[in-house]
Amino acid sequence: MENRIILKARHVWDGIHDSATPFGAILIENGKIQAVGPAENIMTAAHDHFYEWPDATILPGLIDSHTHLSMDGTMANYLDHMSDDVAVLTLRASAMMRRDVKAGITTCRCLGDKEFLDIACRHAVENGEVDGPRVLVATRGIRSPNGHGFVGYPFKGINEIRNAIRENIHRGADLIKIYITGTLKGKGDLPSYLTREEIRLAIEESHAANIPVASHCVGGQGLDWAIEFGLDTVEHAYHITSDQVERLARSGTGLVLTPGAVLSRERVDNLPRNLIQGHMDEREMMFRSMALTVSAGIKFAVGTDGLHGELVQDILYLTELGASNVDALKAATIRGAKICGIGNETGSLEAGKRADIIVVKGNPLETLKDLRNIRAVYKRGRLVHSEASDVFSTPNFAHSVQQ
Ligand SMILES: [Zn+2]
Repeated sequence: MENRIILKARHVWDGIHDSATPFGAILIENGKIQAVGPAENIMTAAHDHFYEWPDATILPGLIDSHTHLSMDGTMANYLDHMSDDVAVLTLRASAMMRRDVKAGITTCRCLGDKEFLDIACRHAVENGEVDGPRVLVATRGIRSPNGHGFVGYPFKGINEIRNAIRENIHRGADLIKIYITGTLKGKGDLPSYLTREEIRLAIEESHAANIPVASHCVGGQGLDWAIEFGLDTVEHAYHITSDQVERLARSGTGLVLTPGAVLSRERVDNLPRNLIQGHMDEREMMFRSMALTVSAGIKFAVGTDGLHGELVQDILYLTELGASNVDALKAATIRGAKICGIGNETGSLEAGKRADIIVVKGNPLETLKDLRNIRAVYKRGRLVHSEASDVFSTPNFAHSVQQ
């Protein structure tokens, strides 16, 4: 007997359209989506497992496109804690991944962690040893010896950078992360800590192995070079100018916004003491730059940068920056998938895709905060988290809800 599951809810939002299907349903078979649409169009069979949420919305699992598995943005001095012992970091990463799953994150992209612990985490999740989203990993972040990057390692010059990239890829990196700039602008021009040649080398070396490159890059000359050489994703873009927004729009480079990391006062207060005032001084400026990318129609994804379980906060910030609710939701689903390079596998509810699905009470298309009301989380068709008190199954297909 095939393992078929049918989920039915007041609304189904597929991640593609701008509105939800009322009284919709989704059919899952062997971990994949078979059909989505109005409930009456979904053909049922005698042995289907059938779950219905009368007051909920079914939507694609959320994608945190920029995080660090062992970072906990709720800790005081959380950046300094990225230098904790690797055993401590790994245990923390395990707890953070569990937090992600409970909040409906079915995929995350990790932009650097220490000592290849992200590879171990990815394996542990794949083997079912720990709970967690599907993880794409960058392994060691690559920065210059004088550059920014709390989760990076220093590499000097072209040869060291090339060797570091090769080793990251050999160890199993899904992408390469380079730190081009710091986060704050300060006075004068924003410095690029990597040279033009180092940026070019990093991108060419990774692309030669079919591996994409993401960069912590907030603006300045380094951003122009990165776009010129075909960087895959620019992360943060806190100080991007209107000229650069135009260049970005014309390029093939994707954008991942992480607004909460600098706009949330609580988050800024958790930075190392010497960084707090600078962030407060530049907060308005960073808001305006990010808003520029939204109003220009740049296709962006969204990430928490290490605030596990709270992607909804960043989604809400996107609407403050000018995005509509549905646009903000797409950033956290289908556009996240596309920008992370897995748009053909997940990110929307379409036949043939992985059944990465969440069920939330209410309707997040109208009220984004409803994303906090997680009822169920499915990863590849498997129930990985459930708050299922208000679910019921039809009498014909009576069975108990898995916990
Ligand atoms: Zn980051």
